[in-house]
Amino acid sequence: MAEEKSEGQRLEERLLMRPKNIGEIDETLLDEAKVFCEGYKKFLSYKTEREVVENVVPLLKKKGYGEFQLGRMYAAGEKFYMNNRDKALVMVTLGRRPVADGLRIGVSHIDSPRLDLKPNPLFEETDMAYLKTHYYGGIKKYQWAAIPLSLHGVISLADGKSVKVRLGEDEWDPVFCVTDLLPHLAMNQMKKPASDAIEGEQLNILVGCWPFKDDAVSGKVKLNIMNLLFEKYKITEKDFLSAELCAVPAFKPVDVGLDRSMIGAYGQDDSACAFASLMAETDCEEPEFTTVTVFADKEETGSDGNTGMRSFFFRDFLEDFVSAYGLQARHVLKRSFCLSCDVNAAIDPAFGDVFEKSNCSFLNRGPVVSKYTGSRGKYSTNDASAETMGFIRKVLDDAGIPWQVGELGKVDIGGGGTIASDISLHNLDTVDIGVPVLSMHSPFEVTSKTDVYLLYKAVHAFYCCLKERN
Ligand code: MN
Ligand code: MN
Repeated sequence: MAEEKSEGQRLEERLLMRPKNIGEIDETLLDEAKVFCEGYKKFLSYKTEREVVENVVPLLKKKGYGEFQLGRMYAAGEKFYMNNRDKALVMVTLGRRPVADGLRIGVSHIDSPRLDLKPNPLFEETDMAYLKTHYYGGIKKYQWAAIPLSLHGVISLADGKSVKVRLGEDEWDPVFCVTDLLPHLAMNQMKKPASDAIEGEQLNILVGCWPFKDDAVSGKVKLNIMNLLFEKYKITEKDFLSAELCAVPAFKPVDVGLDRSMIGAYGQDDSACAFASLMAETDCEEPEFTTVTVFADKEETGSDGNTGMRSFFFRDFLEDFVSAYGLQARHVLKRSFCLSCDVNAAIDPAFGDVFEKSNCSFLNRGPVVSKYTGSRGKYSTNDASAETMGFIRKVLDDAGIPWQVGELGKVDIGGGGTIASDISLHNLDTVDIGVPVLSMHSPFEVTSKTDVYLLYKAVHAFYCCLKERN
């Protein structure tokens, strides 16, 4: 017979929080998460914003989404999308309630840190050919040396046509790499701070060492590479000037751990949240409120540019959409609610001193809600109000979804922002929610399958729940 609980134990249960590993709460979630994440792994093979849009649009069409039509009044349950320059995407499902009652918006980003090629990248040195890069987003440069890289992107040709590049992902494709120095000769390198161990101008990608056989020319290795590129893509060196090419880790998404509880892959910031919200969006048949799911570009470089969340494209689209109902976007946005879906740093005991244990996220404790991000004295952040936190708390608790709160590390240890602050510019209530990640921004980020799955359930609950705002 179970012993009766003491008064203190009863009080503890009633008054104190007891965060738990998901597996302790509900074991069936583990199996559901494993199934869900097979689809996620496929999504992770789309490694750039362009590849996400290119692959998601056909999926949307299959699920009944048509292209947005200006001036059309959509009926409840109808679905449509708007593609911004093949790099950002807005997906909408009309709710039963009038659009004037507000929208349920979920925004994530589909760009990830990487090595972009410079406009004039190809050069030869010591009989080897390289591509010069300029890194995109916040990377630890030393992590990008001595790993296999693949090349992705698009080249705009002189005749106005363009060619797509995706090289290094298929089994028989060659891969590329940035080289590192052998330890035997690295005495000076190893004394440098990690930020300088590999410098920006050393991030050159090795692409060949065989010469073009003709003694009449110099730069034979470079010429040979250019010739191979011409044969494959019909491009000349000048075509690099009108190209967007980047190198990303060539790793395939894989299960991590003997229990297969985790996923290791490039680009989980923010594909974890993009995939979860995409599944929530497409699963909503006829939600109470109209759902709007946004895939943004350029988050990793500050959201500037016309496909980023600081662009007017989102606001203009909303204006176009709601004007069909005789409404103005600002009136609708004021009554709307937005989840800024982005990853957060999971506590890592190897670096425990940068985390504050009462206010950081843990792997396998469910999606992490962040009241604010930013740095120092709460600069550059959307600081969600008590009421906003209260709303999302009720949505998640009522749906029975385990979740946690988390700050990005200790006060004054660093920091970082999300698109929540750009979204809040629209006078729209917003809060950050996402998946805890280990080794964030590295070539091989790690997440827990249950966290990704429960983020899907969280966004789905937010999209489909009936709750009114206070
Ligand atoms: Mn992110
Ligand atoms: Mn990031």
